[in-house]
Amino acid sequence: MDKTTHSFQAEVKQLLHLVTHSLYSNKEIFLRELISNASDACDKLRFEALDNASFYEDAPNLEVRVLVDKGNRTLTIRDNGIGMSTQEAIDHLGTIAKSGTKEFMGRLSGDQKKDAQLIGQFGVGFYSGYIVADKITVETRRAGLKAEEGVRWVSEGTGDFEVEAITKPTRGTDIILHLREGEDEFLSAWKLRSIIGKYSDHISLPILMQKETWDAEKSEYVLEDTWDTVNRAAALWTRSKGEITQEQYDEFYKQISHDSEGPLAHTHNRVEGRSEYTQLLYIPKKAPYDIWNRDKHGGLKLYVKRVFIMDDAEALLPSYLRFVKGVVDSADLPLNVSREILQESRDVKAIREGCTKRVLSMLEDLANNEDAAKREQYAAFWKEFGQVLKEGVGEDFANRERLAKLLRFASTHDESGEPTVSLADYVSRMKEGQDDIYVIASDSLAAAKNSPQLEIFRKKGIEVLLLTDRVDEWLLSHLYEFEGHSLQSVAKGAVDLGKLQDEEEKKKADEVAEQFKPLVERLQASLKDRAKEVRVTTRLVDSPACLVVGEGEVSGHLARLLKQAGQ
Ligand code: ADP
Ligand code: MG
Repeated sequence: MDKTTHSFQAEVKQLLHLVTHSLYSNKEIFLRELISNASDACDKLRFEALDNASFYEDAPNLEVRVLVDKGNRTLTIRDNGIGMSTQEAIDHLGTIAKSGTKEFMGRLSGDQKKDAQLIGQFGVGFYSGYIVADKITVETRRAGLKAEEGVRWVSEGTGDFEVEAITKPTRGTDIILHLREGEDEFLSAWKLRSIIGKYSDHISLPILMQKETWDAEKSEYVLEDTWDTVNRAAALWTRSKGEITQEQYDEFYKQISHDSEGPLAHTHNRVEGRSEYTQLLYIPKKAPYDIWNRDKHGGLKLYVKRVFIMDDAEALLPSYLRFVKGVVDSADLPLNVSREILQESRDVKAIREGCTKRVLSMLEDLANNEDAAKREQYAAFWKEFGQVLKEGVGEDFANRERLAKLLRFASTHDESGEPTVSLADYVSRMKEGQDDIYVIASDSLAAAKNSPQLEIFRKKGIEVLLLTDRVDEWLLSHLYEFEGHSLQSVAKGAVDLGKLQDEEEKKKADEVAEQFKPLVERLQASLKDRAKEVRVTTRLVDSPACLVVGEGEVSGHLARLLKQAGQ
């Protein structure tokens, strides 16, 4: 095959521009990304070799080597994983396959700092090499292909890349970084070892580097022929909790989530019994940009006996917990398990229940913590993910009560309008004789707060929860009661304040109704096509009139939402 030149996909060009112009503050992450790709490639080889052991050729020990060539100023990350065919190199290194790329690009603001954060979340992956290199050469050969079917991919990371055939006896990939002027620190073995220790210690493969000795005559370090393992090379979740530091947990999270920030909380357990598995689950601090994409379920990686099986195993968690990241390593599932089998497996059902319980416990622990800082973390969590968690009330019947306790709402009790009030808080403040929990659903906080329907509740000092999320109407249709108190919308029917209204008031109300009967009749006649009924009400204090919907009818707010959605 002759040398051919290809153009990068437009999004890649944009991404490359961004990488080289705004990721300067945290250069060293390129090594984490490239080692992580090497590790993924080895995972893929191990998986494909389950069906085809010849893929191991004569190199069954999967590993990553980091090589320095001071003379040529190159740094190479070498793996003996799955490798790439010519077409794969063109596709995988010239385009971004991930869905949502376009959407992601659209969100870039042009503000370098913000974009750098966003990009951290998106994961620049391979292209991060261009932070420190002005040219990258990739030499690769896919497992199973002949030595002559290797490929060399070269690009300076601007508009295009070149591809040509090479002979590569060893399987796998070399990523050769030609370092930019001024990036010589990445030729220092000491520096590289320290970066690997920081970011890649938990990688389950050995990462090897050549030993160096000080040559007093030449007065420089010279490379020996012996290699040693720089990392611990045991998958993080297989180690016992006691020997894992918070930092290591955080780094592992950043690697699997592509998040630039650490997680809010994590839980790590070995579960034995009906189904045997290890779970390491994280709750992120920030919602990803595609949290509303309900098709993109599951941030959990599935391993079986430490063999990587799949990313985004959506069967392992319900969709309302799709923000959770982590790893599940099962001891029971077959290695050739497919997504279809997962959906039906009883072991998976047990894992799913177990993971759900753990995540809820993590959240409860934050929400009910004695430490105010933890409770604040829960408040922050709620702002990011509360709307998603609400979906669970309708979807997860078994955990509905636990979920109800985790809900937070804005309320007339707290003028800030922040969603901080739990149903339990509300119940603890109910007035003597009050049975129901009063709520109002509206499309904005201002509209809810200023609703004339609240006047009587304000006057009597009865708290009303202000529901302003899009999902709230739907939530109300699934959550009728909390600890024996029914949730009552103040915008529906004739609100019966029952025992909360004293005899005196009732009598007066009846008198007034009698007095205004002729007026009501006239209004009723003239509004007959537009209102079902006109009546005298005690619910208003200052406003002359308000609209309400009948009991059991679609609320005004929901009607507006449906109209917006074109229904
Ligand atoms: P991601 O790892 O999230 O898929 P990257 O930009 O890091 O995105 O890598 C893009 C793709 O390039 C990978 O999905 C993989 O197909 C391919 N790739 C990158 N590095 C390697 C490697 N060392 N061996 C085999 N394939 C690789
Ligand atoms: Mg990657």
